[in-house]
Amino acid sequence: MNGSVTMRYASDGCDHESAPILSVEQVRRYLIERVLPVAGKEVVATETALGRVLAEDQRALMNIPGADNSAMDGYALASRDSERAGEFRLVVSQRIAAGQVGQPLAPGTAARIFTGAWLPPGADTVVMQEYCRIEPDGTVVIHGPITRGANVRRAGEDIAADACILRRGTRLRAQELGLAASVGLARLPVFRRLRVALLSTGNELVEPGAALRPGQIYDSNLYMLAGLLQGLGCEWFSAGWVPDDPTQTHEALERAAEAADLVIATGGVSVGEEDHVKAAIREIGHLDLWRVAVKPGKPLAFGRIGATPFLGLPGNPVSAFVTFCLFVRPFVQRSQGIVCGQGGADTVPRSFPVEAGFEWSGAKKRCEYLRARLRLTENGATIVEIYPNQSSAVLTSAAWAEGLVEVPEGHTVAHGQTVQFFPFSELLS
Ligand code: AMP
Ligand code: MG
Repeated sequence: MNGSVTMRYASDGCDHESAPILSVEQVRRYLIERVLPVAGKEVVATETALGRVLAEDQRALMNIPGADNSAMDGYALASRDSERAGEFRLVVSQRIAAGQVGQPLAPGTAARIFTGAWLPPGADTVVMQEYCRIEPDGTVVIHGPITRGANVRRAGEDIAADACILRRGTRLRAQELGLAASVGLARLPVFRRLRVALLSTGNELVEPGAALRPGQIYDSNLYMLAGLLQGLGCEWFSAGWVPDDPTQTHEALERAAEAADLVIATGGVSVGEEDHVKAAIREIGHLDLWRVAVKPGKPLAFGRIGATPFLGLPGNPVSAFVTFCLFVRPFVQRSQGIVCGQGGADTVPRSFPVEAGFEWSGAKKRCEYLRARLRLTENGATIVEIYPNQSSAVLTSAAWAEGLVEVPEGHTVAHGQTVQFFPFSELLS
């Protein structure tokens, strides 16, 4: 997207109707280009680093495995002592369990060995105990032929000493923590957590736990967004429930921006007279406002309050949910210091083709994201179904779903047609 075009619209103080219409990809790219990742670092214990973003490359100071070792319980021998075919017999000269170090293997003998034990000097092969027979005199009878190097895990075959095992910008999953521990790293340098302020706007909103008066509804967006942010490893705090009032909106946004790395507001970015967020951001900072060609989730605002980025999501809960998945998540991930495409997290969600078990007439001018679920049919095929009510106010659809089906602009869907399914694993973590 041409940034200067958007800036022109933005600083013109345009309103919703005149805002440019942009595609999902254009908006995603525009946002990603404007990320300023957190720079602060801290060192944490490896076992507490799940979900954190690695701040420095990590190298192995050793080979993993550290030495040739046995992959099986069996007998270690020198392959030159084996017969090409048929049975052969060797004296068992020593016993080596995991954690023990054996003696050099006497020529023409075998060592009883267990999984993980280092091979004694002179041995190059392990024969599984299932292929061995112990004689009453303690010798071992082995059925040849054997393959040199069989059942041996070679020194450095997993990791070579001095190799970079984890790259800066990797979001750490359980397997990365295990890998770090395997080379002896008890602590890891990570970026500090991104701190996000959440703000719900609307006179009608009430905090769950309080009594509802006529006309009021409980705020669901704050709780949903707090969960989504926690899933991404962010810190969050509520910057309050803001009534539809210009002064209070202005004050709440300024306060939120002072304490946060990112401010996310829901509601109040639409066309209505009661939508004060846009005006407030223009007063105290800078605003880009778009109509994104996406359903649900048309209005989306991005701006800055001082140096703090601001994202304004639609108030309808499903619209807020979908726009979070499509736009906020990649922005947040980059802000956390995650490098795209690097183990653990990707900023561009991946999808896979599935057969549609539904029909859809399509939203014509917008790319649609339907709340969907996979189902295994009796003949073993996987099809995707959609929730019957796809209204952007029906949050039950998102709770029911396992992912989103994308219906590109101008497309319809017929039964049996192939559609792209984005599992929530690609959108929420
Ligand atoms: P708005 O974008 O402010 O025009 O809101 C659009 C719709 O979403 C209205 O029906 C609001 O009542 C509803 N809504 C806005 N914010 C929330 C929220 N935090 N939780 C639940 N519904 C909301
Ligand atoms: Mg509102």
